[in-house]
Amino acid sequence: MAATNSAALLRASDICKTYQTPDHIGRLVLDHVNFALRDGEIVAILGKSGSGKSTFLRILAGLIPSSEGVVEYRGQPVRDPAQGVAMVFQSFALFPWLTVLGNVELGLEAQGFSAAERRKRAVDAIDLIGLDGFENAYPKELSGGMRQRVGFARALVVNPDILLLDEPFSALDVLTAETLRNDLVDLWSERRIPTKGILLVSHHIEEAVEMADRILIFGSDPGRINAEITVPMPRPRDWDAPQFRQIVDQVYTLLTTVPGRDGRRGAKPEPIGLGYRLPDAPVQQLSGLVDRLAEAPFNGHADLPHLADEDGLAVDELFPLIEALQLLGLGHVSGGDIDLTAAGRHYAEADMQERKQIFADAVMKHIPLAAHIRRVLDERPGHRAPASRFLRELEDHLSEEEAERVFDTLINWGRHAEIFAYDIDDEVLSLENF
Ligand code: ADP
Ligand code: MG
Repeated sequence: MAATNSAALLRASDICKTYQTPDHIGRLVLDHVNFALRDGEIVAILGKSGSGKSTFLRILAGLIPSSEGVVEYRGQPVRDPAQGVAMVFQSFALFPWLTVLGNVELGLEAQGFSAAERRKRAVDAIDLIGLDGFENAYPKELSGGMRQRVGFARALVVNPDILLLDEPFSALDVLTAETLRNDLVDLWSERRIPTKGILLVSHHIEEAVEMADRILIFGSDPGRINAEITVPMPRPRDWDAPQFRQIVDQVYTLLTTVPGRDGRRGAKPEPIGLGYRLPDAPVQQLSGLVDRLAEAPFNGHADLPHLADEDGLAVDELFPLIEALQLLGLGHVSGGDIDLTAAGRHYAEADMQERKQIFADAVMKHIPLAAHIRRVLDERPGHRAPASRFLRELEDHLSEEEAERVFDTLINWGRHAEIFAYDIDDEVLSLENF
């Protein structure tokens, strides 16, 4: 692909988004995001779940309004779904009663083409994406990978100037995803599609490094662009090339660095807030990971991509655990590597009772929500409090669903560490039998 020139196809200036909450205070999910997609480039966005990536894409596409800021497509403000901007989602709702051809033609609805023209364009898009021969098949006859190809064909049928891809390969198995990704990169590199710019949300680091010219790292609460990495490699890119691995390491580091634990050894970690979005990291998995890290071949130190490979762990499974180890002061990430801290090593060597104690100390010291709950229970005459009390507090910071997830993590940690007891039927926390 030719070098990018500086013309912005799509520009987002100071985008903020607040979603309404039941208490009408509103929750800020995007905070002054500035971004320009230039002619000729593929940009990837990586970030934790809930960091506002999909919201940002929807705003760019004109599907939902921003609360503040403007989006411009070729210099024109975007208010409604912009012609020329097409989106592909993780999974597509295909109409089961329509054939592949019928489903793809839907992409052209409301664009004023004649039936014959619609048909011709749909057939072309189907050929392009490698579904020829399946024009008259129904969705139920197709594999997941082929359905996703129908989704791509529906986006490509409008000859989009810009493609916004929201984790389009995430629901597919590894090999199917790789094939479809390669096909898309080929279409792009060989200029067989008229598309001038692609913005891809991904949760797969190698995928982003393979495809993108630039990678944006989103931070959460509120969502914003925390870092940007350029990938100055020609395509096709070899996953094993030293430069590729080095960029992967760099991205790992940026994604796994917890605020205030930014790799400066000896730096005093900044405390997290009460409403911090604790990762989904049950203690059983955490202790498994500490054991794994302590053993050969790692002996307390691992390259994160290597660890993910070695254990067949998806990034989505590994990241929450890595984040939790850092939050709890058991692990330390820098340069794409994780080290067990002194506390982490101590934990690895300890017996079960001692492990509980180390874990309890770490939770009480580093997780303000745990300390807060314990304090409330200590102070109350009956040493009991309903879960709803704490859930309400969390909902000042998080959506209802996320508050519940965070609370589940905390309950898992707190019960294990015997910081409090929890009655799952009554949903009551207490210090019973302590
Ligand atoms: P990502 O794609 O990075 O996982 P999203 O953009 O889907 O993040 O969501 C960002 C935050 O906004 C999340 O906390 C999510 O719960 C919240 N959110 C998303 N859509 C809505 C909505 N329609 N109403 C209220 N909150 C929402
Ligand atoms: Mg999303």
